[in-house]
Amino acid sequence: MDFSDLGLSAELLDAINAEGYSTPTPIQAQAIPAVLEGHDLLASAQTGTGKTAGFGLPLLQRLSQGKRASSRQVRALVLAPTRELAAQVGKSIATYGAKLPLRTHIIFGGVGQNPQVEALKRGVDVLIATPGRLLDLQQQGHVDLSRLEVLVLDEADRMLDMGFIHDIKRLLRLMPAKRQNLLFSATFSNEIQALAKQLLHDPKMIEV
Ligand code: AMP
Repeated sequence: MDFSDLGLSAELLDAINAEGYSTPTPIQAQAIPAVLEGHDLLASAQTGTGKTAGFGLPLLQRLSQGKRASSRQVRALVLAPTRELAAQVGKSIATYGAKLPLRTHIIFGGVGQNPQVEALKRGVDVLIATPGRLLDLQQQGHVDLSRLEVLVLDEADRMLDMGFIHDIKRLLRLMPAKRQNLLFSATFSNEIQALAKQLLHDPKMIEV
């Protein structure tokens, strides 16, 4: 199995090459075609499995086919439990998408919000965020999630452990019903299963 068998564009294959990845990891081999086809996904995967490229590459490809985000709009949202994970995922996605005309931005709490507000004002195609700060900015009128195309919950179990379920549910109410949902979690508690049931439509299941 080679990356070029998965249906990715030349720009993304170039980025993969530049990163020095030669073979897709098991989660990438399964997730990339499924996400490109528009399926919802329920994936059990730990950090270190290559899950970021597993959702990031096909997400970038799908977004590159549509219209860029207008002011305050977000087209794809990746929610992550911590600023460290948000920063790491955001950096990877920005690297993979470097040759695409898409704007990526990372948002988390504990830092000044002005640069985040300015980026949102211009429109963000791929936003990587922690739930609390994003909800804060939304309540101040800086974020429009009504045109969201793809939602990714990364390390969903950790987000629930950290008490983010209410923030996540508030954010879900601001999104259009018709969107693609990708849920990544290392464990599958009853709470995660309930969230998956509420969120996902006929998901492809991936276990690695
Ligand atoms: P992740 O699980 O997404 O945090 O990725 C773990 C690490 O594996 C990161 O440093 C990636 O750059 C790297 N990586 C992801 N996909 C591949 C691949 N197909 N081949 C080699 N390294 C990879």
